[in-house]
Amino acid sequence: MVAIVGAGPAGIYAAEALSQQTDIPVEIAVIDRIPVPFGLVRYGVAPDHHSIRSIRNTLERTLEKSNVRFYGDVTIGADLSIAELRESVDAVIYAYGAGTDRRLEIPGEHLRGSFAAFELVAWYCGNPDVHPDPDQSRIGDHLVATEIDELITSSQHAVVVGIGNVALDVARILIKSVDQLTDTDMPEEVLESLSRKTITDVHVLGRRGPAYTAFTTKELREMGQIDGVDVIVDPADLELDPSSQAVVQQNKVAARNLVVLQEWAARPLSGVSRRITFHFWSRPTMIIGNDRVTAVEVERTMIDSDGLVVGIGGPQRLAADLLVRSVGYRGLPLAEVPFDERTARVPHAEGRVIRDGGFSPDEYVTGWIKRGPTGVIGTNKSDAVETVTSLLADVHDGAVKPHGRSGQLDRLLTQRGIRALGMSAWHRIDAAEVELGTKHGRLRTTLAHRRELLAAAEGRQVADVAGGQRPE
Ligand code: NAP
Repeated sequence: MVAIVGAGPAGIYAAEALSQQTDIPVEIAVIDRIPVPFGLVRYGVAPDHHSIRSIRNTLERTLEKSNVRFYGDVTIGADLSIAELRESVDAVIYAYGAGTDRRLEIPGEHLRGSFAAFELVAWYCGNPDVHPDPDQSRIGDHLVATEIDELITSSQHAVVVGIGNVALDVARILIKSVDQLTDTDMPEEVLESLSRKTITDVHVLGRRGPAYTAFTTKELREMGQIDGVDVIVDPADLELDPSSQAVVQQNKVAARNLVVLQEWAARPLSGVSRRITFHFWSRPTMIIGNDRVTAVEVERTMIDSDGLVVGIGGPQRLAADLLVRSVGYRGLPLAEVPFDERTARVPHAEGRVIRDGGFSPDEYVTGWIKRGPTGVIGTNKSDAVETVTSLLADVHDGAVKPHGRSGQLDRLLTQRGIRALGMSAWHRIDAAEVELGTKHGRLRTTLAHRRELLAAAEGRQVADVAGGQRPE
Protein backbone atom coordinates (compact mmCIF):
# COMPACT_ATOMS: atom_id res chain seq x y z
CA MET A 1 0.00 0.00 0.00
CA VAL A 2 1.11 3.55 -0.78
CA ALA A 3 -0.12 6.37 1.46
CA ILE A 4 -0.33 9.87 0.01
CA VAL A 5 -0.38 12.70 2.54
CA GLY A 6 -2.56 15.45 1.07
CA ALA A 7 -5.70 15.12 -1.05
CA GLY A 8 -5.13 18.20 -3.18
CA PRO A 9 -4.36 18.08 -6.90
CA ALA A 10 -0.74 17.03 -6.27
CA GLY A 11 -1.73 14.05 -4.14
CA ILE A 12 -4.64 12.99 -6.33
CA TYR A 13 -2.56 13.21 -9.52
CA ALA A 14 -0.01 10.94 -7.80
CA ALA A 15 -2.85 8.51 -6.96
CA GLU A 16 -3.94 8.73 -10.60
CA ALA A 17 -0.44 7.92 -11.90
CA LEU A 18 -0.15 4.97 -9.50
CA SER A 19 -3.61 3.58 -10.19
CA GLN A 20 -3.25 3.87 -13.97
CA GLN A 21 -0.34 1.47 -14.21
CA THR A 22 -0.89 -2.26 -14.07
CA ASP A 23 2.72 -3.35 -13.72
CA ILE A 24 2.71 -3.34 -9.93
CA PRO A 25 -0.54 -3.98 -8.06
CA VAL A 26 -1.02 -1.21 -5.56
CA GLU A 27 -3.56 -0.01 -3.02
CA ILE A 28 -3.56 3.74 -2.50
CA ALA A 29 -4.63 5.66 0.62
CA VAL A 30 -5.07 9.41 0.05
CA ILE A 31 -5.09 11.10 3.46
CA ASP A 32 -6.12 14.66 4.35
CA ARG A 33 -6.56 16.49 7.63
CA ILE A 34 -9.64 18.28 6.23
CA PRO A 35 -12.87 16.23 6.03
CA VAL A 36 -13.20 16.78 2.27
CA PRO A 37 -10.80 16.16 -0.62
CA PHE A 38 -9.48 18.42 -3.44
CA GLY A 39 -7.12 20.76 -1.53
CA LEU A 40 -6.47 23.94 -3.48
CA VAL A 41 -9.02 23.06 -6.15
CA ARG A 42 -11.66 23.58 -3.46
CA TYR A 43 -9.80 25.97 -1.14
CA GLY A 44 -7.51 27.92 -3.46
CA VAL A 45 -8.91 28.29 -6.96
CA ALA A 46 -11.07 31.43 -7.03
CA PRO A 47 -14.79 30.59 -6.82
CA ASP A 48 -15.52 32.68 -9.92
CA HIS A 49 -13.10 30.54 -11.96
CA HIS A 50 -15.67 27.89 -12.76
CA SER A 51 -13.76 25.98 -15.40
CA ILE A 52 -10.62 25.58 -13.26
CA ARG A 53 -12.76 24.49 -10.31
CA SER A 54 -14.42 21.87 -12.50
CA ILE A 55 -11.10 19.96 -12.45
CA ARG A 56 -12.65 18.62 -9.25
CA ASN A 57 -14.73 16.20 -11.34
CA THR A 58 -11.58 14.62 -12.79
CA LEU A 59 -9.95 14.40 -9.35
CA GLU A 60 -13.11 12.86 -7.94
CA ARG A 61 -13.04 10.08 -10.55
CA THR A 62 -9.55 9.12 -9.38
CA LEU A 63 -10.66 8.91 -5.75
CA GLU A 64 -13.55 6.64 -6.85
CA LYS A 65 -11.22 4.04 -8.37
CA SER A 66 -11.38 0.60 -6.82
CA ASN A 67 -7.76 0.67 -5.63
CA VAL A 68 -7.89 4.22 -4.24
CA ARG A 69 -9.39 5.21 -0.86
CA PHE A 70 -9.83 8.67 0.59
CA TYR A 71 -9.12 9.11 4.30
CA GLY A 72 -10.52 12.53 5.24
CA ASP A 73 -10.28 14.18 8.66
CA VAL A 74 -7.07 12.33 9.54
CA THR A 75 -4.13 14.49 10.58
CA ILE A 76 -0.73 12.98 9.99
CA GLY A 77 1.56 14.33 12.67
CA ALA A 78 -1.29 14.37 15.24
CA ASP A 79 -3.61 11.37 14.77
CA LEU A 80 -0.75 9.25 13.45
CA SER A 81 2.95 10.01 13.48
CA ILE A 82 5.04 9.79 10.34
CA ALA A 83 6.86 6.79 11.84
CA GLU A 84 3.56 4.99 12.43
CA LEU A 85 2.36 5.78 8.93
CA ARG A 86 5.62 4.54 7.40
CA GLU A 87 5.36 1.31 9.37
CA SER A 88 1.77 0.74 8.22
CA VAL A 89 2.33 1.09 4.48
CA ASP A 90 5.03 0.23 1.95
CA ALA A 91 5.74 3.79 0.81
CA VAL A 92 4.57 7.33 1.56
CA ILE A 93 4.22 10.23 -0.86
CA TYR A 94 4.16 13.65 0.76
CA ALA A 95 1.84 16.03 -1.09
CA TYR A 96 0.85 18.43 1.66
CA GLY A 97 1.53 21.64 -0.23
CA ALA A 98 2.73 25.01 1.00
CA GLY A 99 0.89 25.78 4.21
CA THR A 100 1.73 29.43 4.79
CA ASP A 101 2.69 32.65 3.05
CA ARG A 102 5.80 34.72 2.58
CA ARG A 103 6.00 37.97 4.49
CA LEU A 104 7.10 41.44 3.41
CA GLU A 105 9.30 41.98 6.49
CA ILE A 106 8.55 45.70 6.67
CA PRO A 107 7.51 47.83 9.65
CA GLY A 108 3.78 47.82 10.40
CA GLU A 109 3.11 44.38 8.95
CA HIS A 110 1.54 43.32 12.26
CA LEU A 111 -1.13 46.05 12.17
CA ARG A 112 -4.82 45.15 12.00
CA GLY A 113 -5.83 45.31 8.36
CA SER A 114 -2.51 43.89 7.13
CA PHE A 115 -2.84 40.21 6.29
CA ALA A 116 -1.97 37.47 3.84
CA ALA A 117 -3.77 36.77 0.58
CA PHE A 118 -3.95 33.13 1.56
CA GLU A 119 -6.16 34.03 4.56
CA LEU A 120 -8.57 35.91 2.34
CA VAL A 121 -8.54 33.08 -0.21
CA ALA A 122 -9.23 30.51 2.54
CA TRP A 123 -12.08 32.71 3.75
CA TYR A 124 -13.89 33.23 0.45
CA CYS A 125 -13.44 29.56 -0.51
CA GLY A 126 -14.96 28.43 2.80
CA ASN A 127 -11.94 26.71 4.37
CA PRO A 128 -12.82 25.55 7.92
CA ASP A 129 -9.38 26.76 9.12
CA VAL A 130 -10.67 30.36 8.97
CA HIS A 131 -14.33 29.52 9.66
CA PRO A 132 -13.95 27.96 13.12
CA ASP A 133 -16.90 26.49 14.99
CA PRO A 134 -18.02 28.51 18.03
CA ASP A 135 -16.37 26.04 20.42
CA GLN A 136 -13.21 25.62 18.34
CA SER A 137 -9.95 27.33 19.17
CA ARG A 138 -8.18 29.37 16.51
CA ILE A 139 -6.27 27.22 14.04
CA GLY A 140 -2.75 28.63 13.78
CA ASP A 141 -2.62 32.41 13.97
CA HIS A 142 -4.79 33.02 10.93
CA LEU A 143 -7.41 35.70 10.78
CA VAL A 144 -10.87 34.22 11.20
CA ALA A 145 -14.08 34.99 9.33
CA THR A 146 -15.44 37.50 11.85
CA GLU A 147 -12.21 39.54 11.64
CA ILE A 148 -12.17 39.50 7.85
CA ASP A 149 -15.83 40.55 7.81
CA GLU A 150 -15.05 43.45 10.11
CA LEU A 151 -12.12 44.55 7.93
CA ILE A 152 -13.72 44.42 4.50
CA THR A 153 -16.91 46.08 5.68
CA SER A 154 -14.99 49.05 7.11
CA SER A 155 -12.52 49.65 4.27
CA GLN A 156 -12.54 51.79 1.18
CA HIS A 157 -8.99 51.45 -0.14
CA ALA A 158 -7.23 48.10 -0.39
CA VAL A 159 -3.60 47.64 -1.41
CA VAL A 160 -2.56 44.26 -2.78
CA VAL A 161 1.20 43.68 -2.90
CA GLY A 162 2.47 41.33 -5.61
CA ILE A 163 1.79 40.85 -9.30
CA GLY A 164 1.03 37.13 -9.51
CA ASN A 165 -2.23 35.29 -10.16
CA VAL A 166 -3.20 35.14 -6.49
CA ALA A 167 -2.95 38.97 -6.35
CA LEU A 168 -5.36 39.13 -9.30
CA ASP A 169 -7.78 36.69 -7.63
CA VAL A 170 -7.78 38.73 -4.45
CA ALA A 171 -8.09 42.09 -6.23
CA ARG A 172 -10.97 40.76 -8.33
CA ILE A 173 -12.93 39.37 -5.38
CA LEU A 174 -12.36 42.56 -3.38
CA ILE A 175 -13.60 44.83 -6.18
CA LYS A 176 -16.47 42.77 -7.64
CA SER A 177 -19.97 43.52 -6.39
CA VAL A 178 -21.79 40.71 -4.60
CA ASP A 179 -24.14 40.33 -7.59
CA GLN A 180 -21.10 39.43 -9.67
CA LEU A 181 -20.29 36.60 -7.26
CA THR A 182 -23.65 34.95 -6.56
CA ASP A 183 -23.10 32.40 -9.33
CA THR A 184 -20.17 30.98 -7.35
CA ASP A 185 -20.24 28.31 -4.63
CA MET A 186 -18.99 30.69 -1.93
CA PRO A 187 -20.50 30.08 1.51
CA GLU A 188 -23.66 32.11 2.15
CA GLU A 189 -22.02 33.87 5.09
CA VAL A 190 -19.14 35.00 2.83
CA LEU A 191 -21.57 36.41 0.28
CA GLU A 192 -23.42 38.11 3.11
CA SER A 193 -20.17 39.81 4.23
CA LEU A 194 -19.31 40.73 0.67
CA SER A 195 -22.72 42.35 0.25
CA ARG A 196 -21.71 44.79 3.03
CA LYS A 197 -18.19 45.40 1.65
CA THR A 198 -17.33 49.09 1.24
CA ILE A 199 -14.20 48.85 -0.94
CA THR A 200 -14.10 51.21 -3.94
CA ASP A 201 -10.40 51.08 -4.83
CA VAL A 202 -7.91 48.28 -5.10
CA HIS A 203 -4.27 49.20 -5.76
CA VAL A 204 -2.01 46.42 -7.04
CA LEU A 205 1.71 47.04 -6.37
CA GLY A 206 4.47 45.42 -8.43
CA ARG A 207 8.02 45.84 -7.16
CA ARG A 208 9.25 45.30 -10.74
CA GLY A 209 8.01 46.58 -14.08
CA PRO A 210 5.31 45.40 -16.48
CA ALA A 211 7.75 43.05 -18.23
CA TYR A 212 8.15 41.05 -15.01
CA THR A 213 4.56 40.19 -14.14
CA ALA A 214 3.85 36.68 -12.87
CA PHE A 215 0.25 36.80 -14.23
CA THR A 216 -1.10 34.51 -16.89
CA THR A 217 -2.66 36.62 -19.66
CA LYS A 218 -6.17 35.14 -19.50
CA GLU A 219 -6.36 36.03 -15.80
CA LEU A 220 -4.96 39.52 -16.39
CA ARG A 221 -7.37 40.25 -19.24
CA GLU A 222 -10.31 39.28 -17.03
CA MET A 223 -9.59 42.26 -14.76
CA GLY A 224 -10.60 44.63 -17.56
CA GLN A 225 -13.91 42.85 -18.09
CA ILE A 226 -15.56 43.48 -14.73
CA ASP A 227 -18.71 45.57 -15.15
CA GLY A 228 -18.66 48.79 -13.15
CA VAL A 229 -14.89 48.75 -12.60
CA ASP A 230 -12.29 50.97 -14.30
CA VAL A 231 -8.74 49.67 -14.63
CA ILE A 232 -6.08 52.35 -14.30
CA VAL A 233 -2.54 52.00 -15.62
CA ASP A 234 -0.10 54.88 -15.89
CA PRO A 235 1.32 54.87 -19.47
CA ALA A 236 4.65 56.12 -18.08
CA ASP A 237 4.96 52.83 -16.14
CA LEU A 238 4.83 50.95 -19.43
CA GLU A 239 7.89 52.56 -21.02
CA LEU A 240 10.46 49.79 -21.25
CA ASP A 241 14.14 50.10 -20.40
CA PRO A 242 16.53 47.95 -22.47
CA SER A 243 16.47 44.99 -20.06
CA SER A 244 12.65 45.02 -19.91
CA GLN A 245 12.62 45.10 -23.73
CA ALA A 246 14.85 42.03 -23.79
CA VAL A 247 12.52 40.21 -21.37
CA VAL A 248 9.47 41.01 -23.47
CA GLN A 249 11.23 39.79 -26.62
CA GLN A 250 12.03 36.44 -25.05
CA ASN A 251 8.96 35.83 -22.92
CA LYS A 252 5.68 35.47 -24.83
CA VAL A 253 3.51 35.72 -21.71
CA ALA A 254 5.25 38.95 -20.68
CA ALA A 255 4.71 40.33 -24.20
CA ARG A 256 1.00 39.43 -24.16
CA ASN A 257 0.55 40.88 -20.67
CA LEU A 258 2.18 44.09 -21.81
CA VAL A 259 -0.29 44.40 -24.71
CA VAL A 260 -3.21 44.04 -22.28
CA LEU A 261 -1.73 46.70 -19.98
CA GLN A 262 -1.09 49.03 -22.95
CA GLU A 263 -4.73 48.67 -24.04
CA TRP A 264 -5.89 49.66 -20.57
CA ALA A 265 -3.47 52.59 -20.36
CA ALA A 266 -4.89 53.94 -23.63
CA ARG A 267 -8.53 53.33 -22.71
CA PRO A 268 -10.55 56.32 -21.46
CA LEU A 269 -11.93 55.84 -17.96
CA SER A 270 -15.68 55.49 -17.73
CA GLY A 271 -15.86 57.24 -14.36
CA VAL A 272 -17.57 54.39 -12.52
CA SER A 273 -17.33 54.21 -8.75
CA ARG A 274 -14.93 51.25 -8.42
CA ARG A 275 -11.36 51.08 -9.65
CA ILE A 276 -8.35 48.78 -9.84
CA THR A 277 -5.07 50.67 -10.21
CA PHE A 278 -1.83 48.90 -11.20
CA HIS A 279 1.37 50.51 -9.88
CA PHE A 280 4.61 49.14 -11.29
CA TRP A 281 8.14 49.80 -10.03
CA SER A 282 6.54 50.33 -6.63
CA ARG A 283 7.11 48.55 -3.35
CA PRO A 284 5.85 49.17 0.17
CA THR A 285 8.47 50.23 2.69
CA MET A 286 6.25 50.80 5.71
CA ILE A 287 2.66 50.18 6.73
CA ILE A 288 1.30 53.14 8.65
CA GLY A 289 -1.29 53.21 11.42
CA ASN A 290 -1.67 53.20 15.19
CA ASP A 291 -3.75 50.14 15.73
CA ARG A 292 -5.15 49.70 12.24
CA VAL A 293 -3.65 50.29 8.77
CA THR A 294 -4.35 53.80 7.45
CA ALA A 295 -1.73 54.19 4.72
CA VAL A 296 1.24 52.56 3.04
CA GLU A 297 4.55 54.20 2.21
CA VAL A 298 5.52 53.19 -1.30
CA GLU A 299 8.91 53.79 -2.91
CA ARG A 300 9.82 53.78 -6.58
CA THR A 301 12.16 50.99 -7.61
CA MET A 302 14.49 49.88 -10.35
CA ILE A 303 16.60 46.81 -11.05
CA ASP A 304 20.29 47.43 -10.47
CA SER A 305 23.19 45.96 -12.43
CA ASP A 306 23.16 42.85 -10.19
CA GLY A 307 19.50 42.25 -11.04
CA LEU A 308 18.32 43.30 -7.57
CA VAL A 309 15.28 45.48 -6.91
CA VAL A 310 16.45 48.72 -5.27
CA GLY A 311 14.61 51.79 -4.07
CA ILE A 312 15.22 55.01 -6.00
CA GLY A 313 12.92 57.58 -4.54
CA GLY A 314 9.87 58.59 -2.65
CA PRO A 315 8.41 57.20 -0.60
CA GLN A 316 4.92 58.40 -1.32
CA ARG A 317 1.97 57.75 0.91
CA LEU A 318 -0.95 55.75 -0.44
CA ALA A 319 -4.18 55.78 1.59
CA ALA A 320 -5.08 52.24 2.58
CA ASP A 321 -7.43 50.56 5.02
CA LEU A 322 -6.29 47.09 4.03
CA LEU A 323 -2.94 45.73 2.94
CA VAL A 324 -3.02 42.24 1.50
CA ARG A 325 0.38 40.69 0.88
CA SER A 326 0.28 38.34 -2.09
CA VAL A 327 3.96 37.62 -2.48
CA GLY A 328 3.84 33.85 -2.71
CA TYR A 329 3.21 30.85 -0.50
CA ARG A 330 5.76 29.02 1.62
CA GLY A 331 6.08 25.36 2.63
CA LEU A 332 5.89 24.39 6.29
CA PRO A 333 7.78 21.57 7.96
CA LEU A 334 5.86 18.47 9.03
CA ALA A 335 7.25 16.80 12.17
CA GLU A 336 9.69 13.97 11.33
CA VAL A 337 9.77 14.80 7.59
CA PRO A 338 13.06 16.21 6.22
CA PHE A 339 12.73 19.93 5.46
CA ASP A 340 15.09 22.43 3.91
CA GLU A 341 14.50 25.75 5.73
CA ARG A 342 16.22 27.70 2.96
CA THR A 343 13.94 26.53 0.16
CA ALA A 344 10.99 25.64 2.44
CA ARG A 345 10.67 22.31 0.62
CA VAL A 346 11.24 18.64 1.30
CA PRO A 347 14.70 17.84 -0.11
CA HIS A 348 14.50 15.30 -2.91
CA ALA A 349 15.85 14.11 -6.23
CA GLU A 350 13.20 13.32 -8.85
CA GLY A 351 10.68 12.93 -6.04
CA ARG A 352 12.82 10.59 -3.88
CA VAL A 353 13.08 12.14 -0.40
CA ILE A 354 16.60 12.74 0.86
CA ARG A 355 16.92 11.89 4.55
CA ASP A 356 20.22 12.04 6.49
CA GLY A 357 22.22 12.59 3.32
CA GLY A 358 20.85 9.60 1.38
CA PHE A 359 17.64 8.46 -0.28
CA SER A 360 14.99 7.36 2.17
CA PRO A 361 13.85 3.89 1.05
CA ASP A 362 10.10 4.53 1.30
CA GLU A 363 9.49 8.29 1.16
CA TYR A 364 8.57 10.37 -1.88
CA VAL A 365 7.32 13.89 -2.44
CA THR A 366 5.25 15.75 -5.02
CA GLY A 367 3.53 19.10 -5.60
CA TRP A 368 4.32 22.44 -3.97
CA ILE A 369 6.19 20.90 -1.01
CA LYS A 370 8.48 19.28 -3.62
CA ARG A 371 9.05 22.04 -6.18
CA GLY A 372 7.86 25.19 -4.38
CA PRO A 373 4.61 27.13 -4.85
CA THR A 374 4.72 27.57 -8.61
CA GLY A 375 2.79 26.51 -11.66
CA VAL A 376 -0.88 25.99 -12.42
CA ILE A 377 -2.97 23.02 -11.25
CA GLY A 378 -1.98 20.96 -14.31
CA THR A 379 1.73 21.37 -13.48
CA ASN A 380 1.12 18.92 -10.62
CA LYS A 381 0.28 16.19 -13.09
CA SER A 382 3.71 15.95 -14.71
CA ASP A 383 5.28 16.51 -11.30
CA ALA A 384 3.35 13.54 -9.87
CA VAL A 385 4.28 11.38 -12.85
CA GLU A 386 7.97 12.05 -12.18
CA THR A 387 7.60 11.04 -8.52
CA VAL A 388 5.55 7.93 -9.25
CA THR A 389 8.03 6.90 -11.97
CA SER A 390 10.80 7.05 -9.37
CA LEU A 391 8.74 5.04 -6.89
CA LEU A 392 7.87 2.33 -9.42
CA ALA A 393 11.48 2.10 -10.58
CA ASP A 394 12.54 1.66 -6.94
CA VAL A 395 10.00 -1.13 -6.46
CA HIS A 396 11.38 -2.84 -9.58
CA ASP A 397 14.95 -2.46 -8.33
CA GLY A 398 14.04 -3.74 -4.89
CA ALA A 399 14.90 -0.44 -3.20
CA VAL A 400 11.33 -0.21 -1.89
CA LYS A 401 10.68 -3.33 0.13
CA PRO A 402 7.02 -4.14 0.78
CA HIS A 403 6.65 -4.24 4.55
CA GLY A 404 3.23 -2.80 5.36
CA ARG A 405 0.81 -5.54 6.35
CA SER A 406 -2.56 -5.45 4.62
CA GLY A 407 -5.16 -3.54 6.61
CA GLN A 408 -2.58 -2.21 9.09
CA LEU A 409 -3.45 1.45 8.47
CA ASP A 410 -7.15 0.81 9.09
CA ARG A 411 -6.42 -1.21 12.22
CA LEU A 412 -4.22 1.54 13.62
CA LEU A 413 -6.85 4.20 12.97
CA THR A 414 -9.54 2.03 14.60
CA GLN A 415 -7.31 1.43 17.64
CA ARG A 416 -6.92 5.20 18.00
CA GLY A 417 -10.67 5.75 17.67
CA ILE A 418 -10.16 7.79 14.50
CA ARG A 419 -12.92 7.58 11.95
CA ALA A 420 -11.67 8.55 8.52
CA LEU A 421 -14.24 10.08 6.20
CA GLY A 422 -14.34 8.34 2.84
CA MET A 423 -15.91 9.13 -0.50
CA SER A 424 -19.43 8.18 0.62
CA ALA A 425 -19.12 10.88 3.30
CA TRP A 426 -17.95 13.29 0.61
CA HIS A 427 -20.97 12.43 -1.55
CA ARG A 428 -23.29 13.23 1.34
CA ILE A 429 -21.47 16.56 1.88
CA ASP A 430 -21.64 17.24 -1.85
CA ALA A 431 -25.41 16.56 -1.88
CA ALA A 432 -25.93 18.79 1.18
CA GLU A 433 -24.00 21.64 -0.49
CA VAL A 434 -26.06 21.32 -3.67
CA GLU A 435 -29.28 21.21 -1.66
CA LEU A 436 -28.30 24.31 0.32
CA GLY A 437 -27.35 26.06 -2.91
CA THR A 438 -30.72 25.25 -4.46
CA LYS A 439 -32.43 26.73 -1.42
CA HIS A 440 -30.61 30.02 -2.14
CA GLY A 441 -31.13 29.89 -5.90
CA ARG A 442 -27.52 28.84 -6.52
CA LEU A 443 -25.91 25.71 -7.88
CA ARG A 444 -24.01 25.00 -4.67
CA THR A 445 -23.14 26.60 -1.35
CA THR A 446 -19.89 25.53 0.26
CA LEU A 447 -20.21 24.40 3.87
CA ALA A 448 -17.47 26.34 5.62
CA HIS A 449 -17.59 25.02 9.16
CA ARG A 450 -16.21 21.72 10.31
CA ARG A 451 -19.34 20.91 12.32
CA GLU A 452 -21.44 21.49 9.17
CA LEU A 453 -19.17 19.22 7.13
CA LEU A 454 -19.31 16.50 9.79
CA ALA A 455 -23.09 16.79 10.12
CA ALA A 456 -23.52 16.52 6.36
CA ALA A 457 -21.05 13.61 6.23
CA GLU A 458 -23.31 11.72 8.63
CA GLY A 459 -26.41 12.64 6.66
CA ARG A 460 -27.66 14.94 9.44
CA GLN A 461 -29.49 18.17 8.70
CA VAL A 462 -27.14 21.14 8.26
CA ALA A 463 -28.22 24.35 9.97
CA ASP A 464 -28.50 27.16 7.44
CA VAL A 465 -25.83 29.57 8.66
CA ALA A 466 -26.59 33.18 7.68
CA GLY A 467 -29.28 31.86 5.36
CA GLY A 468 -31.70 34.45 4.09
CA GLN A 469 -29.81 37.42 5.55
CA ARG A 470 -28.20 38.42 2.30
CA PRO A 471 -30.07 41.13 0.44
CA GLU A 472 -31.39 39.77 -2.85
P1 NAP B 1 3.78 34.14 -7.70
O1 NAP B 1 3.23 33.81 -9.04
O2 NAP B 1 5.08 33.58 -7.31
O3 NAP B 1 3.81 35.74 -7.57
C1 NAP B 1 4.34 36.35 -6.44
C2 NAP B 1 4.48 37.84 -6.71
O4 NAP B 1 4.92 38.44 -5.50
C3 NAP B 1 5.50 38.20 -7.78
O5 NAP B 1 4.98 39.26 -8.52
C4 NAP B 1 6.71 38.65 -6.94
O6 NAP B 1 7.50 39.61 -7.58
C5 NAP B 1 6.02 39.30 -5.79
N1 NAP B 1 6.86 39.43 -4.61
C6 NAP B 1 7.57 38.46 -3.98
N2 NAP B 1 8.18 38.96 -2.89
C7 NAP B 1 7.86 40.27 -2.85
C8 NAP B 1 8.18 41.33 -1.96
N3 NAP B 1 8.94 41.12 -0.88
N4 NAP B 1 7.69 42.56 -2.22
C9 NAP B 1 6.91 42.78 -3.29
N5 NAP B 1 6.55 41.82 -4.17
C10 NAP B 1 7.03 40.58 -3.95
O7 NAP B 1 2.80 33.66 -6.52
P2 NAP B 1 1.21 33.59 -6.36
O8 NAP B 1 0.53 34.71 -7.03
O9 NAP B 1 1.02 33.36 -4.92
O10 NAP B 1 0.82 32.25 -7.15
C11 NAP B 1 1.34 30.97 -6.75
C12 NAP B 1 1.17 30.00 -7.92
O11 NAP B 1 -0.22 29.67 -8.08
C13 NAP B 1 1.65 30.59 -9.23
O12 NAP B 1 2.29 29.60 -9.98
C14 NAP B 1 0.34 31.01 -9.89
O13 NAP B 1 0.39 31.09 -11.30
C15 NAP B 1 -0.60 29.92 -9.42
N6 NAP B 1 -2.00 30.40 -9.50
C16 NAP B 1 -2.64 30.25 -10.69
C17 NAP B 1 -3.93 30.73 -10.83
C18 NAP B 1 -4.63 30.58 -12.15
O14 NAP B 1 -4.13 29.93 -13.04
N7 NAP B 1 -5.78 31.19 -12.33
C19 NAP B 1 -4.56 31.38 -9.77
C20 NAP B 1 -3.87 31.52 -8.57
C21 NAP B 1 -2.57 31.03 -8.44
P3 NAP B 1 8.95 39.25 -8.17
O15 NAP B 1 8.68 38.57 -9.46
O16 NAP B 1 9.60 40.57 -8.29
O17 NAP B 1 9.61 38.33 -7.15
